[in-house]
Amino acid sequence: MSDAIRPQPGILDIALYQGGKTQIAGVANAVKLSSNENPFGPPDRAKEAYLRAVHSLHRYPSTDHAELREAIAEVHGLDPDRVICGVGSDEILQLIAQAYAGPRDEVIFTEHGFLMYRICALAAGATPVQVAERERVTDVDAILRACNTRTRIVFVANPNNPTGTMIAPAEVARLAAGLPRQAILVLDGAYAEYVEGFDAGLALIEDRTNVVMTRTFSKIYGLGGLRIGWGYGPQAIIDVLNRVRQPFNLSTAQIDTAIAAVRDQDWVAKCRAENSRMRAWLAGALAEMGVPSDVSAANFILARFASADEAEACDAFLQSQGLIVRRVAGYNLPHCLRITVGDEASCRRVAHAVAQFKGAR
Ligand SMILES: *Cc1c(COP(=O)(O)O)cnc(C)c1O
Repeated sequence: MSDAIRPQPGILDIALYQGGKTQIAGVANAVKLSSNENPFGPPDRAKEAYLRAVHSLHRYPSTDHAELREAIAEVHGLDPDRVICGVGSDEILQLIAQAYAGPRDEVIFTEHGFLMYRICALAAGATPVQVAERERVTDVDAILRACNTRTRIVFVANPNNPTGTMIAPAEVARLAAGLPRQAILVLDGAYAEYVEGFDAGLALIEDRTNVVMTRTFSKIYGLGGLRIGWGYGPQAIIDVLNRVRQPFNLSTAQIDTAIAAVRDQDWVAKCRAENSRMRAWLAGALAEMGVPSDVSAANFILARFASADEAEACDAFLQSQGLIVRRVAGYNLPHCLRITVGDEASCRRVAHAVAQFKGAR
């Protein structure tokens, strides 16, 4: 290939996203606790809606997602005109970066922030800026200190992945208020539904012009395989994102399944309660074995080991027991393992295996 043919600056700096491992060689029924999936899957009504979509495969889908936006707006008390739907919340993150950041602009995220933020920044030609956290918690002052006239976007997940920690609404508000005029605060609410009574920043969005929220059907709704997400923000920003969004980004199956899922808030409440119960149990069991974790607000636990070597050895032992968890060295946490809160049987299996591992050392 001619070396005159080159991608845009930044693209070759993107490291390919590594998803959670899905299989262990030679193990048939491995338990997958590596991608923060809902062990109970989606509600039945969502599965039924997906099956019905087979009858309209020859039709183009809706371009404006009006029905889905209305369902989301109704459930959350929002203005449907300010909801945008995407192929996972990843697409919304990407649209924001594409529309608002470019060469010489800076995009801020935190030390243990979601890997997609760096990818979106680089793909847009912007400069990723990584800011320190304080003991695995988003540090608003550090972010504000990192801001300058080139800052265009600040990505913060609340609760954060892979730490599971959260910052209080007052801290989020202080961050939004302290940003330079040209910067947008993107609140990634992928795990918001796991926090009882949490508005994920909606009140702040109503108050201000510089805050956007992203949400997903991949986590508590159990639809990671279908790829549906949404965003909410000021009308001016949503209008911009809709200009760059592909008109047919979501299929009819995605749209109809998401409508059925979002309307089943009993399912969401049930999954949230079960997650809280098993998360507390698992964190307690691990702590008793000398494996501490920060209080998690999400559907996973970030288990801390004495060293990177111990975390790696534990991961290898868990795999030998048919258990897949997530190594997070790529998130600057080489001494940790992120363990999704599975159903009760999976939680018991993983706790038992970690106990065996610790006992054998
Ligand atoms: C899982 C996750 C998402 C969801 O991504 P989708 O594209 O909606 O599947 C977004 N942000 C964070 C921090 C996540 O952990």
